[in-house]
Amino acid sequence: MFTLGIDIGSTTSKCVILKDGTEIVATSLVKSGIGTNGPKIVVDEILAKANLKLKDIAHTTATGYGRNRSEIANSQMSELSCHTIGVHFVFPNVKTIIDIGGQDAKVMSVGADGIMQNFLMNDKCAAGTGRFLDVMANILQIDISELEVYAAKATNEVKISSTCTVFAESEVISQLTNGVELPDLVKGICESVAGRVSALAKRIGIKDDVVMSGGVAQNGGVRTALEKALGTKVYHSELSQYMGALGAAIFANKKANK
Ligand code: ADP
Repeated sequence: MFTLGIDIGSTTSKCVILKDGTEIVATSLVKSGIGTNGPKIVVDEILAKANLKLKDIAHTTATGYGRNRSEIANSQMSELSCHTIGVHFVFPNVKTIIDIGGQDAKVMSVGADGIMQNFLMNDKCAAGTGRFLDVMANILQIDISELEVYAAKATNEVKISSTCTVFAESEVISQLTNGVELPDLVKGICESVAGRVSALAKRIGIKDDVVMSGGVAQNGGVRTALEKALGTKVYHSELSQYMGALGAAIFANKKANK
């Protein structure tokens, strides 16, 4: 039996198809989210990849900001629950999840049973989210995926002192004009995001294992900075950006079996 999870985010749409609730058959990601045709395209793409038709899917669950906008979903589930289910599936020992997406950052504490116990969220300010990194990558004219490569080459400490994305933008431009090396600047930018999110994480309390999910988990510069700030290992996987969609597909399997 096949189930589909769709995560309609602020910047991206992600899908996962599961067989019998345990086997990942296909994943798909489109770089456009809520309010675009991304959610439709991503479903067409994943069905083609899996060589399936919509009628072959026993149940579809939508999650993410745009979960109520999906025309094909049979049910909806919150992002917090779906990320927790998805991460726990891949990392059964997870106790703390740090999810940084395109528009917000969330920290969830997870019980031994894999159930979310508590969470804290920053959705008020772009600093400390993927948006901050997207803006900075744009100013520096480098691809978002290259940030970690530059950060790894840093040799000097650079601190971004502005707490607001708009002011940080001017600060980064003036640092560049003053001859600060690009790798040092990129590392400072990654540390700025990690600093904000680690403060959120410390408020909820850090318990090992700590796992990162969301698109920013792919940025090794932020992961390294978070490990330093929290003083513990931060796990991630190539499925990091799909954790919400994966959790939704697992939830869909439970619904289909009812
Ligand atoms: P949402 O669900 O809110 O749309 P995602 O969890 O998909 O957000 O994360 C989107 C963010 O992930 C982007 O803002 C970007 O900063 C980051 N990101 C996306 N792809 C990469 C990549 N290849 N390397 C590093 N960061 C990435």
